[in-house]
Amino acid sequence: MIKKQSSVMKRLLAFLFAGMLFGTACLSGCSNAGPEKAASSAETESVQETAASSAESEAGQETAASSEEAEAGMDEAGLPEEEPEMPEIPDDVTGGKPWIASCIPGNVTADTETSPADDFYLYANKEWIVSNELPEGSPVTSRDRTAGVNARMREALAGEMLSGHDARQAQLLFNAFVNTEARDAAGCEPAKKVIDDIRSISTIEELNAFLLDLERSAGVPTFIKVSNSRDYNTHRWVTGIGLSDETFGATIGTMGMDAATVDPESDVYQARYALVHDVLTRAGFTDEEAKKAFEARLDLEKEILKLTEESGEEQGEDTDYTIDQLDKLTGNFPLRELAEERGYGSAETFEVRDASELRAAAELYTDEHIDQLRSYLICGYVLETAGWLDTKAFAAWLADCAANIDDPIPLTMPERNKTAPETALNLIVEIAPTLVGRAYVEAYDLTHIKEFITNLTVEAVEAHKKNINASAWLSDDSKKQLTGKLDAMGLDLVYPDVWEDYSGLDIEGLGYYGARRAIWLNDLARNASLTGTEIDDRLWEDPSILGGVGAYNAENNSFVVSAGAVEEEVVRYEAGEITLEELMGGITGYTLFHEPAHALDPADIFKDAEGKDLEASLLTPADLEEYQRRTDKITKYFDGISVWEGQQVDGSVCTQEALAEICGMQARLTYAAGQNEFDYKRFFETRARLAASLHTPEYALACIMGMDRHPLLYLDTNVTFQQFDEFNDAFDVKEGDAMYLAPDERLVIW
Ligand SMILES: [Zn+2]
Repeated sequence: MIKKQSSVMKRLLAFLFAGMLFGTACLSGCSNAGPEKAASSAETESVQETAASSAESEAGQETAASSEEAEAGMDEAGLPEEEPEMPEIPDDVTGGKPWIASCIPGNVTADTETSPADDFYLYANKEWIVSNELPEGSPVTSRDRTAGVNARMREALAGEMLSGHDARQAQLLFNAFVNTEARDAAGCEPAKKVIDDIRSISTIEELNAFLLDLERSAGVPTFIKVSNSRDYNTHRWVTGIGLSDETFGATIGTMGMDAATVDPESDVYQARYALVHDVLTRAGFTDEEAKKAFEARLDLEKEILKLTEESGEEQGEDTDYTIDQLDKLTGNFPLRELAEERGYGSAETFEVRDASELRAAAELYTDEHIDQLRSYLICGYVLETAGWLDTKAFAAWLADCAANIDDPIPLTMPERNKTAPETALNLIVEIAPTLVGRAYVEAYDLTHIKEFITNLTVEAVEAHKKNINASAWLSDDSKKQLTGKLDAMGLDLVYPDVWEDYSGLDIEGLGYYGARRAIWLNDLARNASLTGTEIDDRLWEDPSILGGVGAYNAENNSFVVSAGAVEEEVVRYEAGEITLEELMGGITGYTLFHEPAHALDPADIFKDAEGKDLEASLLTPADLEEYQRRTDKITKYFDGISVWEGQQVDGSVCTQEALAEICGMQARLTYAAGQNEFDYKRFFETRARLAASLHTPEYALACIMGMDRHPLLYLDTNVTFQQFDEFNDAFDVKEGDAMYLAPDERLVIW
């Protein structure tokens, strides 16, 4: 359980941080959408992993982690399993070496002197730093680079101009959410019908009938769950069996309630209980009944844990079962019928994720435990669907999401300043990214943007290859392997060529609850339809094309760049409003040149061109030794940096990302060398400004300790720049300047 929760947390944090790096909508949109998405990914990587909301949470871990952070970063080294103790933060946090932590509010004032040769990040961002502050309740802020695209999308969704099937469904969903009057008029009535239905169940036989009737049980966790997820080893979808995600509280948008250890006074318990209590009392429960239901659900979870422990079985590897073997394992539970009823019947084998846990759960599936099972279903249903209801339940659902982020710092951005249309857009990007993506493509023709980005990406990959081929120490064999992996890299650029199938969805005329329920059913059917099929790589793991998504997927050696991240810059560049240097120093150059570097980073050097684990590495043994010497040098260099007096950076946390950015920058400079009269000053200034950010010392500390795998942004900027002569020449950096690094101290990989 601990492992499960912590991986959900990693994904969520990865998602939040992707936003911080890119300064995107993530920070404004995570509060509601983020957690939902994170939970679903189950792998996803979150970047995303996920299941969107309910749909995926029920239908499964369809989405796997795609995000760079989730995949390459967090998952590999990840957060420590044991929470490390947070060091004390001194009152004076100005003593960083070799640079002041200029991202911490108050460390820089209008009087602070700046010089490009001593602290380039501060030089480029001082004006922004002194004229911005942290929004109330937020530990971090940065430039919002997606405001323009999001505003245009809200306008498109609120209007009537969209006519394609999927785009129209996005519009209907958006407007159903924004119509708070209709949502509040319906109140909790839609949920009451389902809750009353479950309350009327008094035998296992009746419970089976309920679970096997999707019309009755839509949105309700089935206790034991069937779902398909990607397996890149076989390149096929595998059908998995496990306890519903809602068990032990690891449900959509939430995490962190282990039945055996949770403290009823904790924020998590209180927020979950408040949510269940709100909906149940409005659906006819007394206070006492609501409390009993909540506790009965926890009691059932405790019994599962106890039986699992008593069995003495080790939690083994995933094991394949035939349906006959499963019948024996799951006893009374109607698994065979459920799999058939929900469309998974054609699976030849089922991957069981934890047999002892499943056996324990099945043992409790008896008439004797009917009250606990009923409570399990009712509470799970409320946690899952409260966000589909009126504004009161939605607010409680958001508070639950916020409380379930198990971290000393409140990462979830408050929604209080958001308008309903802003929240609606953030939400539907998470719930049904395909629908809103197709609306985006229909409202704004992105064909040309896709062509432009594809061409520039080809140049980016060529620049990486050129650097590798020019390396003085790599053998020809190693060069061939490295460039071969870059050539084989999958490119998911701007928008997918093939979209997830929503052709069966029709929410015309439905209220918001009805629309969410229909999407939940559609996603379940979509997931089931993948049973036994080969993975279609044209379908993106996370088809969100709004927001600043840029991510490398280590599992299949591909990377994704969303339309929302680059569209505005490309349009401005082509209109002559920004220069090539600004395009290359902006998010476009960053994403297209940084992400390919991950294919060859310290984790992925051990994976082949298809993303499969190698017995050795892409490099010859001698070259691998040199590669590791160079990556160790990066680690040691960061170890020697302090953010304030007494607080060193942990180089092992950020080496992978630091290396990707140094190699990405090297490739941008190789590309620049081929351009006429490239303005390096403007390029470096733009790249530094991209990283403008403010955060609390607590947040900075959590990042250093592993919450974010990237170096703090002022370090990501300064350390990267000081490796290159182009920078020194442009700003006249000389020995003795704080930005200066002697050639033999530099951190160049190739
Ligand atoms: Zn990266």
